[in-house]
Amino acid sequence: MAGLLRTIVIVGGGFSGTVVAANLLRRPPPGPTRLVLIERADEVARGAAYAERSFPYLLNVPASRMSATSTAPKQFLEFAQRRIPKATGEDFLPRTLYGEYLNELLLAAQLSAPNNIRLEIVKGTVTGVRRIERHLPLQVELESGRRFTADDVVLALGNPKPASLPAAKSVLDHPAYVGDPWAIDLKFNRNQTVLLIGTSLTSADVVNVAASDLQRAPNIHALSRHGLVPPRQTPFRPDAFKGDGNALLLAASASLRRLVSSVRLLANEAEQMGGDWREAITFVRNMAPTIWQRLPERDRVRFLRHVRAHWDIYRHRLPPELIQKFDALKSAQRLTIHAGHIKEFIPRDDRIEVIWRPRGTDRTRAQQFDRVINCIGPDYAIARSTEPLWRNLTQCGLCVPDKLGLGLRTGPHGAVIDADGWPGPHLFYVGPMLRADHWEATAAHELRGHAEKLAALLATERR
Ligand SMILES: Cc1cc2nc3c(=O)[nH]c(=O)nc-3n(C[C@H](O)[C@H](O)[C@H](O)COP(=O)(O)OP(=O)(O)OC[C@H]3O[C@@H](n4cnc5c(N)ncnc54)[C@H](O)[C@@H]3O)c2cc1C
Repeated sequence: MAGLLRTIVIVGGGFSGTVVAANLLRRPPPGPTRLVLIERADEVARGAAYAERSFPYLLNVPASRMSATSTAPKQFLEFAQRRIPKATGEDFLPRTLYGEYLNELLLAAQLSAPNNIRLEIVKGTVTGVRRIERHLPLQVELESGRRFTADDVVLALGNPKPASLPAAKSVLDHPAYVGDPWAIDLKFNRNQTVLLIGTSLTSADVVNVAASDLQRAPNIHALSRHGLVPPRQTPFRPDAFKGDGNALLLAASASLRRLVSSVRLLANEAEQMGGDWREAITFVRNMAPTIWQRLPERDRVRFLRHVRAHWDIYRHRLPPELIQKFDALKSAQRLTIHAGHIKEFIPRDDRIEVIWRPRGTDRTRAQQFDRVINCIGPDYAIARSTEPLWRNLTQCGLCVPDKLGLGLRTGPHGAVIDADGWPGPHLFYVGPMLRADHWEATAAHELRGHAEKLAALLATERR
């Protein structure tokens, strides 16, 4: 109701929360609005990906495709060029620079916001959200005891903590075991033998740290079920694919088998037309939400079991600089990639012995490591979460996990579906767990779309 103060609380001031806030500041609801952005870390507009770290990790997407504003696709590149005049759209720039950009984006939106909206940034950890009745305001509770009454709440909590292998139970507290590589500053020395569990993006970040000084690089082994490493990113044109893929994919999306062969067909077609298979993958990725929603549930299960590892590898790519580091470590015999299945972890004084079965064999192999680093990636199954907020939300029925353990059930605009099957109407989610409904919802490009649509909805008169 115009005239009455409306309060919108955003929980989590990482990428998604910041983009929702900046969009609301630029185009606010019609009446007086109090916008509260609650972040538990010291800084907003960073999140796990773009936080300041002692190592200059790189973005895995070229600068020209990292704008947080869809109407200004070169915004990040232009920001970067003010800091690094030689930067080009094809460069893979430091992730901390991207954090600075998000900070500037929020600040600029705050400074130019009209008078009827006010942003309040609060440092704290949200532990609960309560609802007395479906259409009444929500109560947001912080660990400190502070509370906010909110007309609308946006959950933008980011990636959950990393998953861990069931076999790792015996070493969770062992000093050689690193359960969350983002929780510490990684340091290595030449005498160490290190095992990375996983061979995808997190593992690539760890290899990047280890390879920063080749003379001191440890002996690294990286192991995953298939032993696949994301391929090199190329300067391909993301919108170049002009095949009639749309109709083909839609027709194929009722069956996983047809879908897989259609994607292969499109990739071959892209190459035959003188392009790059990456163009076809980007094309499929842009259609992923529609395809995912059409795919029968039994095929989604089969996809997760049999195809996901391959899709994730081809869909994520590594900066050429990083591939060079992989190659340098391999030629110096400091990096070995294995495909296999871990059977057991055995604590051996200050080392950990790992028993695994190499893929395609029935024998096992054992080796001791000075460090075992869990690079499996986030555990999206909120039913298993130990986060007080997720526990609170699931226990009081404000949200429900999706059946496949990919996140939570959401309706249009990320409206959180409650235990009675109702979406929202005043509780929303934006972030990587949208994958339960959209499959591809991880990269800045996809999340910015969801954040913009949600901000546009919140800016309407809704009560
Ligand atoms: C290491 C890494 C690198 C990535 N690199 C790229 C890349 O190069 N290009 C790309 O397109 N995408 C990349 N991504 C993917 C994507 O951009 C990020 O995952 C994106 O930042 C997700 O945004 P988010 O807001 O959902 O989560 P985050 O940005 O992590 O923000 C969540 C925020 O919520 C806060 N929070 C959580 N719980 C609470 C609570 N209870 N109370 C208060 N605050 C809370 C957290 O402290 C955090 O700041 C990367 C992801 C990761 C993890």
